[in-house]
Formats: sequence, structure tokens, C-alpha cells
Amino acid sequence: MGFCNFRVGCLDMSSGKKTKVSMRKCEVYDVSILEPMIQNMLNEICNPKALFTRGKKVLIKPNLVSPVSPEKAATTHPAMVEAVVKILVAYGVEDIWIGDSGIHGTDKIFTVCGMTDIAERYGCKICDFDRYEIDRVENTANVILKKIPMTKYIGECDLVINMPKTKIHHAVLYTGAIKNLYGTIVGKNKMKLHANLGTKDNFENALLDLYSTINPALTIMDGIVGMEGNGPANGKPVRSNMILASTNGLALDIVAMRQIGIKVKDVGYIEKGIERGVGPKENDIELIGDVIESVKYDKPSGYLIKFNGWAERVTPVIYKFFKPIPLFDQKKCVKCGICVEICPANAIVLPDVPKVDRETCISCFCCQEACFSDAITRSDSKKKGI
Ligand code: SF4
Ligand code: SF4
Repeated sequence: MGFCNFRVGCLDMSSGKKTKVSMRKCEVYDVSILEPMIQNMLNEICNPKALFTRGKKVLIKPNLVSPVSPEKAATTHPAMVEAVVKILVAYGVEDIWIGDSGIHGTDKIFTVCGMTDIAERYGCKICDFDRYEIDRVENTANVILKKIPMTKYIGECDLVINMPKTKIHHAVLYTGAIKNLYGTIVGKNKMKLHANLGTKDNFENALLDLYSTINPALTIMDGIVGMEGNGPANGKPVRSNMILASTNGLALDIVAMRQIGIKVKDVGYIEKGIERGVGPKENDIELIGDVIESVKYDKPSGYLIKFNGWAERVTPVIYKFFKPIPLFDQKKCVKCGICVEICPANAIVLPDVPKVDRETCISCFCCQEACFSDAITRSDSKKKGI
């Protein structure tokens, strides 16, 4: 599989037609209901018979951020993945891969999140991105990531099915189709990249570069139960009873955000993505399927999320003094050292309790995402950790 900016997913946009997003109401994680439902959705947005042919290697990329049970709603539910696997099997696809790279060691994540079980029952290959080679993928058309340290599995498969979860994100407000592909960056390169990119602006452009380079053929989102509050790992499960599918992940994200009460202008990478032509404008989306009541997700506790990028650009010197940094709850902290290990800026020390160096911290909140004990809050949060 070669890399080019407009391989499969974005092609719909160039024809001047509206980009289709299919949405269905679903309240249960039942494979016998999900399989025909998703099949119908695919029939509406693409030609699955032409896409899923025998001999193709298809990589499914769920969101497996943490080794926690599906009921916590941090990860794509295994029933969704199983339904898609069954559809692929029915079309005769024999090489089905399920892959991701999580913060906490992907081995354990595959088992706890139900992927190993699916792989064993349907003969799929588990692709632990952290235990395979890294491709330094070049894409000169990209805005910021001219070379991307992504898993070699992406280059070796014929098509990617992106399977995100609808979630609030503590640093970028919303995570779905576009953000899910950050998991294709192998292991600690994810954190290193955060540190090297520095600003929120750069990070947002990097997410779009990554999406454009991989350009998944399909995005199928699990929004039956999403995550609100301090997502993507420490928030609360919330029902939104929806499944979305599209050949364009950005179009799908716009619809998902609308369903959970988030505006395009509040998510920097979505706004930029429209400007860059990675996806359509809101008015150029054709929504098909069910009308589903929207459910307003609780936002993360940090109130500077929305203004970070603006503040960084306009007042870089002043920003240093009021940028959000992590606060550690000493009662909850079990001194495991994970935050120290994953911090891309080496800004945390753990002599006794974790302490952060304000100057060095780049406000990425990878530490908060990685903390199992929910011991980290943001300094701009209304609810302080200490
Ligand atoms: S990851 Fe959480 S529990 Fe572990 S040392 Fe850091 S703050 Fe404490
Ligand atoms: S201390 Fe936390 S927020 Fe600051 S750079 Fe490290 S991981 Fe990111």
C-alpha cells in the first residue's frame, strides 16, 4: 500500500458531491443486532463488495487507550469490532488485523479489551504496534509531519478501518476519528512527538497530517456509550446511543460532535481540517439514517482548553505564567511512577510525591491520561486535585 494524501477516504470530496455520514440509533452491544445494522450503513456510504475482496489485508484500528474493561467506555467496545470482523469474513476477507499502541503496554490491553478473544475466534491477527518495526513514512505534502514514525503494519495492509469511540478529551476537547489515528505512532514516539511539536497549533496540524497520510477507507464509530468529563481515559460513561460510519473521518467527527454538544469552532484540529480540505464544511455533509436525540457530554474540568492555542500564539511570554500544569492528589497517588516515565518533557520528578517543573511542562497532559489512580487534575480546573 502506498501513501498519498487522497487515497480512498477523501476521494468523495473531490467530486463536488456532499460527503455522506450514516447514523443509526442503537442502545445495545449485541453483535447479532450490530452486524446487519453496520452492513446496511456500509451499503449507504460505499461499495463494500468492491472494497472487501478476498486477498486483501484489512487493518482494524480500534481505540484501546487503557487496559480497562469495555464497561468503562474508554475503549471501542469488542461487540462493535466483532460485528465488523464478521462482515469482513462474510465478504471472504481472510487477512484481518486488529492493531493499536497504548500507553500502558499493548499486550495487556488487547486481552482486557476483548480483542484477543475476537482474534482467536475468527482467526484475526493481533498487531501490537509496539512490538513491530517502525516506518519513517515520508509525506512532503504534510504541513508539519514530513516524516512520521508510524507502525509498519500501516504500510503493509491494503486498507484501514478506523474504529474510534466518542469521547471528551482533556487536552483537545473531543476525540474521535481524527485523533484515534495518533495511536499508529509507535510507543514512546507518541510522547516524544508531543514534546517536539511544542504548541497546540503544531499538534493539531500533526493530527491532520497523520490522518491525511493514512487516509482510512472507512471510519465506524462506537457512540453507543461514550465518555464525558476527563476523557479519554478517566471520564464517566455516558449514553449517546449512536453508531456512525463514513468514508471521511472528519465529516463523521463533525456529526458526532454535534450529537454531543460540541461546536466545530471549539475543536482546533477540526476547524483546521476543514480549512485544509481534509474534510467537508458542515453544510457539505449529507446525514443519512436515523434522527437521534443529542446528548450534551460534560466537558473536561480545564477551562483553558479552548484558549490554549490562542494564548500560546498571541502572548507566548505571559502564557508561560498561566499555562495549565498537572496537580497531583497526594491521597490518591500510589507513587507508581508511570507519569514520570511517560512525560515527554521530563518535567515530573518523584522524590516522594510527584512534582512538576512548570517551566519545562508542555501542558500535554499525557500524565493525566496515563494515571490509573485518577490522581492528576489540571491547574486550571475548577475542581483542584490538592
Ligand atoms: S501516575 Fe498517578 S499514581 Fe502514579 S505516580 Fe503519577 S500521579 Fe501518582
Ligand atoms: S508534566 Fe504532564 S502535562 Fe506536563 S509535559 Fe509532562 S506529561 Fe505533559
